[in-house]
Amino acid sequence: QAKKAGRNGICFFDPKMQENITARVLLESDLRNAITDKQFSLYYQMQVDQYGEINGAEALLRWQHPKRGLLLPNDFIALAEETRLILPIGEWVIETACRLIKAWQENETTKHLILSINVSAKQFQQADFVTKVKAIVQTHAIQPSRLKLELTESMLLSDVEDTITKMTALNSIGICFSLDDFGTGYSSLQYLKRLPLHQLKIDQSFVRDIAIDTSDQAIVRTIIAMAQTLNLTVIAEGVETQEQRQFLMDNGCTHFQGYLFGKPMSLEQFEMRLGINAVDDIGH
Ligand code: C2E
Ligand code: MG
Ligand code: MG
Ligand code: MG
Repeated sequence: QAKKAGRNGICFFDPKMQENITARVLLESDLRNAITDKQFSLYYQMQVDQYGEINGAEALLRWQHPKRGLLLPNDFIALAEETRLILPIGEWVIETACRLIKAWQENETTKHLILSINVSAKQFQQADFVTKVKAIVQTHAIQPSRLKLELTESMLLSDVEDTITKMTALNSIGICFSLDDFGTGYSSLQYLKRLPLHQLKIDQSFVRDIAIDTSDQAIVRTIIAMAQTLNLTVIAEGVETQEQRQFLMDNGCTHFQGYLFGKPMSLEQFEMRLGINAVDDIGH
């Protein structure tokens, strides 16, 4: 192994670092081909209400890499953001989601379902984000209220006025918003009440130990109270056990998502769970 650091702690040559750079460059070029080669797909994780009824799903991005197998967002989203490849990828996600909503709204057993998608900061900050989303929604002639966009606190805080303008514009045609990973950022009630939000999504880090950790219990109670004050629905993510679900229910949480109900799954599997025949091929 080469010498790690020079006399002043300056790094001259670190083979590990070189390896990382090479891996990154390779992944970036693979990422460029992934859209045209149709390597992305969406998995769907059900969202259930307090009666256990499925009332929607969150679409989660997957990358079927030709050599490395199925990759999760944590393996490539950061790189996609740095290289701005998240813009075409994100657009593909919105397109695909709208095509599915269109298929669902044509079927009696699925027309009530709401599909949530994740939007990255770079995507939301595009000047023409609103125009793009509206165009896709119109092209597919979907009921906009079936589409929910998941945003995170940090991306909304960077330019509050711009955020409000964009959310209001999309909300005026019926698109709704959920604040993802809620509790991990720094939003105040003062700020939240200015946003046209519909839902707070309790981050899974607070749910994990909720049965035993009294500070997590207090945080979750506070989030639920905030949601009630602001007239928002509240969904908990990462619900894995009956105990977690029970605590959340007892404290007023009405919507749930997590392995307890179902893992993210392919469209075919998801529709099997819904008990319907697979919707016509929508190009997954
Ligand atoms: P997220 O939006 O907070 O999604 C929840 C993550 O928790 C998902 O990971 C999901 O598979 C996982 N999860 C769900 N239920 C459970 C559970 O009961 N226990 C545990 N331990 N985990 C659970 P995933 O699919 O790997 O996605 C990770 C993150 O990547 C997402 O976090 C989201 O921020 C981002 N992401 C996913 N799809 C997209 C996308 O299409 N566009 C963008 N920009 N980001 C995406
Ligand atoms: Mg999400
Ligand atoms: Mg989340
Ligand atoms: Mg999360």
